[in-house]
Amino acid sequence: MKYALVLVNIKGLGVRTFSYLIPEEMKEIIQIGQAVLVPFGRQGLINAFVVGFSDYLPGDFKVKKINKIIDETPLFSIKYLKLLEWVANYYCTDFVTVLNAALPMKLIEKNAKVEQSVSFINDENEKLTKRQKEILQLLKEKGKSSLIDFEEEAKTTRSTMKKLENLGCIKIDTEYVYRNPLSIFKDVKTEPLFELSGEQITVYEGIKSKLKSQNPILLHGVTASGKTEVYFRLIKDVIDSGKNVLFLAPEIALASQLTKRLARKFGIKDVAIWHSSISDGEKYDVWQRLYRDEIKILAGARSAVFAPLQNIGLIIIDEEHEGAYKQTSPAPRYDARVVARRLAQFHQAPLLLGSATPDVSTYYYATNNNNLFEMKHRFNNSPLAKPQVINMQEYGRASYRGIISKPLQIEITETLERGQQVILLMNRRGYSTYTQCKACGTVVECSDCSIPMIWHASTKTLKCHYCNKEMHFPDFCPQCGSDALSTSGVGTQKIEVLIKELYPDARVERIDSDILTRKNAHIELLNRFQKGEIDILVGTQMIAKGLDNPNVTLVGVLSADTGFNIPDYRASERGFQLLTQVAGRAGRGEFKGKVLFQTYNPDFYAFQTAKSQDYEKFFETEIKSRQEFDYPPFSQIIRLILSSENQFRAEKSAMEIALRLNTMTEKFGFGEYLETLGPTPCIIEKIHKLYRFQILIKNKLSQKGHDFVSKFLNKITLPKDIKLAIDVDPLDIL
Ligand SMILES: [Zn+2]
Ligand SMILES: [Zn+2]
Repeated sequence: MKYALVLVNIKGLGVRTFSYLIPEEMKEIIQIGQAVLVPFGRQGLINAFVVGFSDYLPGDFKVKKINKIIDETPLFSIKYLKLLEWVANYYCTDFVTVLNAALPMKLIEKNAKVEQSVSFINDENEKLTKRQKEILQLLKEKGKSSLIDFEEEAKTTRSTMKKLENLGCIKIDTEYVYRNPLSIFKDVKTEPLFELSGEQITVYEGIKSKLKSQNPILLHGVTASGKTEVYFRLIKDVIDSGKNVLFLAPEIALASQLTKRLARKFGIKDVAIWHSSISDGEKYDVWQRLYRDEIKILAGARSAVFAPLQNIGLIIIDEEHEGAYKQTSPAPRYDARVVARRLAQFHQAPLLLGSATPDVSTYYYATNNNNLFEMKHRFNNSPLAKPQVINMQEYGRASYRGIISKPLQIEITETLERGQQVILLMNRRGYSTYTQCKACGTVVECSDCSIPMIWHASTKTLKCHYCNKEMHFPDFCPQCGSDALSTSGVGTQKIEVLIKELYPDARVERIDSDILTRKNAHIELLNRFQKGEIDILVGTQMIAKGLDNPNVTLVGVLSADTGFNIPDYRASERGFQLLTQVAGRAGRGEFKGKVLFQTYNPDFYAFQTAKSQDYEKFFETEIKSRQEFDYPPFSQIIRLILSSENQFRAEKSAMEIALRLNTMTEKFGFGEYLETLGPTPCIIEKIHKLYRFQILIKNKLSQKGHDFVSKFLNKITLPKDIKLAIDVDPLDIL
């Protein structure tokens, strides 16, 4: 081959590919994945990676020569590039965008430096204050430090934290660690694996018999059924056979907890962690170890699906129903589960998905492929609490401020008297939900987004939950000038206030994304709750995840209808999942748990099935309605969003695209199988000053339809003021 296609990362230009001539003496040794030096304009020699070869270049270019091969050992393989290429095609985005998301940029920028000295903690490049230097020194000496002490002692700011992360300090749970995130496990003692229960053994054996399956295997186990023990047993088998395991958890905090447990069971030297908050230096380190096949188990969040783990023998995705596996913005809008499936095929390895409330599509496919395994009992045989429904149409009047019903109040009192703990779910943050003029009915909206501004009592401001815009509470109605403005609806902050009024002696805390401005605040609160230092925890869906506290015996859901009313085809599924997950937090230990749902729609089916925690029944009803309306898994949805500051122009280009697509599908005779819906204004019509119109494509032709649509989309060119976002398999259609 005559030319090499190389990848560079240029300030201001981002990641790009360019062609270079291969000098005669390199022709024998040059390989994909190698780091090279190439001349680049005024910047002189820069680092690059070989990603392809060709014998021919279109046009009349003067091509420069590759200067040097920095390292003959490649850092990624053709197989790896093939995976990224597949992702780019599937998500209708370009290869470079995917590469940008997958490869740690320091690999490109610092490769040459790294080769000279192994130190990739580049202290000199960061301008540090005296105090920051001291902290760094301290961390280097001690190896680790408690994050909380550290933050308080040092009175460090977020920017300091950010800088320290750039320098290779990593946080795990509430501790800060210097460089190697696993040094935290150095005093961790290895423990043997647990003995499996009868049900676990059956499931383990069953899954083992399916490991050659080309299709994903689903482990559907009720909350606290002990899925992790089954995973660990399978992991042991795989690493004993000389292969490696990729294990994904939906978020960083859970991935960190998981890594700790893995290190305890399998030893620290074989385990590594990968997620978006790990510093580039650390990623570079792990990347090299992965490439040299020195890591047997890699745990991580979504982006770990792109880490170059070799010789994969098993991929596990726990809590597979979680939306966090999908990147919604920016592109590539990939779903780690979809990418993992492809990765598994590349390695001819099985993909195991686990959940107590599986994605409806996952469950559908697993049933059809005979790849479904179920665990119906809790590990310690503690019974699942059957939720009790409080019909607020009946109890509303008699409840505290119309919000906390009498039965819930009684249960809270009794639970506190027994010295046990309470979780209260209110899946809406802020104090109220909207501010309205009583004179003319106007709802105060964000000036940049078409959604109501939400009152936050803690900051005494109105906030937009989409763009974070804040404003003072207006004195007069912006529409009619009346001063009769008042807030309505309930959010977590109001619940916190009311609960403190009702139970002045109880220790009450709140968890929602508003407290996340303080780093690790929610992990800190969860730890305190775990230790019994908090009696009542109020929060959004963040409290429904991963919490395993045997002293929690009461879970109250204040407004169980929230979520079900959203105009989205997956609203019932998400509502069902949330209620089942939060109910699963009650009575996990020796004490019996109680769950109360307050609702105005006690007869709704998703609600009824969540009440009886009957997944199969929920699935049966839900899958029928999906089939009736051709929603996934009976079609694939491809969503196009056209947005512009100019409402008219956004709508006009959306209409043109929809029209053209319709003409094309008719012409090719696909009309019946490729349905184009819209354009319609998005349910949230405006975000960040941009007016939004959407086109939904329902593809009932699988691969063929997908190829047709992506070819069509590739040809679209738009004026600069109009943005097109393509979302394949979107999480929601709001
Ligand atoms: Zn008004
Ligand atoms: Zn806004």
